[in-house]
Amino acid sequence: GPVLRAENVSKSFGPTPALRGADLALAAGEVLAVMGPSGSGKSTLLHCLAGILRPDSGEVWYDGHRLDQLPESARSRLRRDEFGFVFQFGQLVPELPVLDNVMLPLLLAGQSRRSARESAAALLDQLELSGLEGRRPGELSGGQSQRVAVARALVARPRVVFADEPTGSLDSLTGERVLELLVDSAREHGASVVLITHDARVASYADREVVVRDGRVTALEPA
Ligand code: ADP
Ligand code: ADP
Repeated sequence: GPVLRAENVSKSFGPTPALRGADLALAAGEVLAVMGPSGSGKSTLLHCLAGILRPDSGEVWYDGHRLDQLPESARSRLRRDEFGFVFQFGQLVPELPVLDNVMLPLLLAGQSRRSARESAAALLDQLELSGLEGRRPGELSGGQSQRVAVARALVARPRVVFADEPTGSLDSLTGERVLELLVDSAREHGASVVLITHDARVASYADREVVVRDGRVTALEPA
C-alpha cells in the first residue's frame, strides 16, 4: 500500500479554506510532482502530509498510523527521523560550513562525528559539491545552496522527502539540474518524494503529476 495518504483532508485559516477534501496517496519510492496555481493549497497539503499542520478534518496515514492524530511530540520525532525537507530559501545554518550543515541531522540523531562526516561527504560528492565542504552558505551560489539543502534533507536516509518549490529562486537551467540531482539522489536512497513545483519540465523526472486546484487534488489533464 501507499507509504503516505491523505483522505478528504480539509484545512482553513480563519475564514480562508486552503484545503477542501484533498485526497492523495504516495507509493513507496514514488516521485510525485504537485503542480497548481499560487494559493491553491499546495503548501498546506504538504504541511498536512508531513505532520507540520494538523488538518481540521480528514485523515492522514503514514506507515499504517494516523499521523494527524499523533501528538506534536511524536509528529516532531517523525519529521526528524523519517522525513527530509527542502524549501525555497534559507534552510542552512549561516555560521556553519557546508559539511557541518549536512552533518547536522546525523549528529542530532546521535551518530558519531566520524560517521556523520563520511556520510555527509559522500552525499556532497554525489550532489557535485566536492571542494565546497569548508565554505559558509553565504559564499555559495543559489544552485549550490539548494544542492546543499538537498544533501542535508537526504543524509539521514528519510523515507519521504518533502520539497516545496526547491528551485523557485533559481534560473531555469540551474533549477533543472537541482531537480535532477534531487530526484536521482532520492531514488538512489529509496526515498519517496513530494515535490511542489511550477516547473513543467519536472514531468521528465517525476513518476506522476497531480494538480491542486481550489484545495482539491486532481489528476493532471493532458495539455
Ligand atoms: P500554495 O502553496 O498553492 O500557493 P497555500 O497552501 O500556501 O497555497 O495557501 C492556500 C491558501 O491558504 C491561500 O489562500 C493562502 O493565503 C492561505 N494560507 C496558507 N497558509 C496560511 C496561514 N498560515 N495563515 C493564513 N492563511 C494561509
Ligand atoms: P508558496 O510559495 O508555497 O505558495 P507562500 O509564499 O504562499 O508559499 O507561503 C509561504 C508560507 O507562508 C507557508 O508556510 C504558508 O503556510 C504561509 N502563508 C501563506 N499564506 C499566508 C497568509 N495569508 N498568512 C499567513 N501565512 C501564510
